[in-house]
Amino acid sequence: MARPTVAKIRLDSFRHNYLLARSIHGHQALAVIKANAYGHGAVKCARAIEKVADGFAVASIEEALQLRDANIIKPILLLEGCFEASELPVIAQNDLWIVVHHEWQVQALLSAKLSRPLTVWLKMDSGMHRVGLSPEDYRSTYDQLNNHPNVAQIVMMSHFACADEVDSAHPLQQIQTFRSVTEGLDAPISLLNSAGILSWPAPYAQWARPGIMLYGSDPTDNPANASKNKLQPVMQFESKIISVRTLSKGEPVGYGCTFVAERTTHVGVVACGYADGYPRHAATGTPISVAGKITHLIGRVSMDMLTVDLTDIPEATIGSRVELWGDKVAVRDVATSAGTIAYELLCNVKRARFEYSDSEHTQ
Ligand SMILES: *Cc1c(COP(=O)(O)O)cnc(C)c1O
Repeated sequence: MARPTVAKIRLDSFRHNYLLARSIHGHQALAVIKANAYGHGAVKCARAIEKVADGFAVASIEEALQLRDANIIKPILLLEGCFEASELPVIAQNDLWIVVHHEWQVQALLSAKLSRPLTVWLKMDSGMHRVGLSPEDYRSTYDQLNNHPNVAQIVMMSHFACADEVDSAHPLQQIQTFRSVTEGLDAPISLLNSAGILSWPAPYAQWARPGIMLYGSDPTDNPANASKNKLQPVMQFESKIISVRTLSKGEPVGYGCTFVAERTTHVGVVACGYADGYPRHAATGTPISVAGKITHLIGRVSMDMLTVDLTDIPEATIGSRVELWGDKVAVRDVATSAGTIAYELLCNVKRARFEYSDSEHTQ
């Protein structure tokens, strides 16, 4: 027997979401599987879509080589490019694509000795002000790289700061800057992350870069998107009730006695805590599903356990199935209740057993 805390990963849903992202976008899409596929397992996720995917994107050469070692042969983009010039020959040997976002990377690329030329995604800072070449320097750098023997192809790229905010004018300003600088240059374009794909299916951008939507979570604040898009949650984060008790009115539960029963309250103890990645800052009232019904968290989350209100679910008992997030409870709602975003919760799942299912392959 084992501790019942488990992250069930449905690779069919991952594939469904990828194909959906690509069809909404209408062009090619790099599946963003950095950070171990947002906590879902990068190699398993990559294998599940390799036949249909246009390519993958990760954050570092270590993440890319893990995929190459698993015989993933599709294109892999390094989203921050190289961190040291010495990585460039390894990048060429393993046929990886790189983002170039800074002048030092341009110089490193121009002076590198490479076994083959590289596909370069030249990134512009069109207004997020994190990474990317300034609009003023962009064209001259483009000209320097274009036709240089170390460069096979250039993709022109930028990233949005506020794509998830439906009323923000900022993305439109960024698009305007990007367009005015790149006008007349004959290279493919990549602008859209998940929020961008869901908010503006933009036909002029050849390559999209969907991340969070592949895992089934809609990052936008536009309620119309949620109903329009049939994204399927990929991770079912589950556990079981391991203890039940009844609190009388006035009795507290858990560390700090932060929750005090206002009525006779049936409490269930769930084998899942912050050491498994459930957020400690989730507030009393955070939705949790027990035996298929929605109830809520009460009291503080501890390292290995948390407590739920079972008063209105009389059939719940020791061994009842608990869904922390998945089909019944949106990970985004748990995140909101804990003052964070779905991305962070998904990336943080640990210690739990991971179980994979895929109708197309036996894992
Ligand atoms: C992580 C990342 C993405 C994916 O973003 P989502 O919001 O998860 O879709 C796209 N582009 C870049 C440059 C990224 O770093």
